[in-house]
Amino acid sequence: MIQTMSTKLRIVAMPTEVVEHVRESLRDEFGNILAAGVEHGGGPCRHCLRYSEPREPLLLFSYRPFGEPRPYQEVGPVFVHARSCERHASKDSIPGDFAIRPLVLRPYDKEDNIADSQRYAEAGEAATIARELLADENVAYVHARSRSHGCYLFRIEREN
Ligand SMILES: [Zn+2]
Repeated sequence: MIQTMSTKLRIVAMPTEVVEHVRESLRDEFGNILAAGVEHGGGPCRHCLRYSEPREPLLLFSYRPFGEPRPYQEVGPVFVHARSCERHASKDSIPGDFAIRPLVLRPYDKEDNIADSQRYAEAGEAATIARELLADENVAYVHARSRSHGCYLFRIEREN
């Protein structure tokens, strides 16, 4: 076991290359043709890891947040800001706009298999639960997902 309390978290946002390709081509890798729109309640940008303002344009597209294709992987809908934004820099904490919301945390092993049952974090609990999941050596990383919609938000790893 890795010691839970000493586990430092690395928050991994969507790579900038992926976001720039989508912004420039207005297509995703699943054949969807994209157009910027607004989410009146705000939508979570997977690149800067902030919620949009009500009138800020977003691009919605399909994304597979994994490396080489494997059976447990899912493709799902994600938002990014339509205009340039700065990729979230990893810190040992859940990004502020997500820390205040309930999340689902799903652990995966290094071959992208689901490693164990997903856990449900109430607002403020996600960092502690991520550390608990990452204390299992079999767990390589954790996906944070929206609890209300189930969509992928960001990845959490151990900071070495
Ligand atoms: Zn953004």
